[in-house]
Amino acid sequence: MIDIHVHFFPPAIFRAIWRYFEQGSHGLWPILYRVHTKKHVEMLRSFGVERFTSLLYAHKAGLADSLNAFVREWSAKEAALLPFGTIYCGDGNVAGKARTLFEDWNFYGIKLHPFVSHENLDDERMFDAYEVMEALDRVVVCHPGSAPVYDQTDGPRRLRRILERFPRLKVVVAHCGAFEYGDYTALAHEYEGVYFDTAMNCVHTHVFRDNCPGPSFFLQFQDRILFGTDFPNLPYDYMNQVDALKALELGEEIERKIFSENARRLLGLEPAGGGGQ
Ligand SMILES: [Zn+2]
Repeated sequence: MIDIHVHFFPPAIFRAIWRYFEQGSHGLWPILYRVHTKKHVEMLRSFGVERFTSLLYAHKAGLADSLNAFVREWSAKEAALLPFGTIYCGDGNVAGKARTLFEDWNFYGIKLHPFVSHENLDDERMFDAYEVMEALDRVVVCHPGSAPVYDQTDGPRRLRRILERFPRLKVVVAHCGAFEYGDYTALAHEYEGVYFDTAMNCVHTHVFRDNCPGPSFFLQFQDRILFGTDFPNLPYDYMNQVDALKALELGEEIERKIFSENARRLLGLEPAGGGGQ
């Protein structure tokens, strides 16, 4: 399995995020897996995950560089880690930062979380970075949908604005675009670089209502849906996510695509069981 939606923060930031999640007033949830660094990697391996991303994001200026350096350090130590960094517009020089991440460090992409960073995806200060990413075929994983607790539903409009300008940009819409499923489906029909991840989708949980776009969505986008979980920020067992997708009974071939082949193709990884690293 390849998990395209795994968070990998430095320990102190993970602890701050978990504290935030566990203050009931935010409508979030208790964290079952309070793991970071070595233990985090070992735990994913124990679930049968071969490769996984290092999604992180900055909530303020001046933080992204150290987050990216942390990913670089750990991806040198752990071959299973697929390095993803982040770019914060407020830090400036986004094209230079993108070139460092992708040309010098060979990262696969970035994660952007507009609700946490308070920087919109279509913030024009970001466009020079998107231009570099489109040219180098790198991936933006983003969380533009209103799920689970946000009240902004303008994500599809903002994403469309980016894709009109950079139509070949590869974008993974987290959580299958919940809850604006229809709007992201329309976008995916128009732009073939639009992908989806399954983080927290279709799992039976009280913390994420209306979390399943339904089997027809999975059939329709079987070549562009990527297995993702949101590990370690989960209130339930990791395998619940695997079981939830298998319960859709999509068949072996589609499952193989969703659990690994689509991610291999998107990121240009070696085929399963092949040689290489
Ligand atoms: Zn996430």
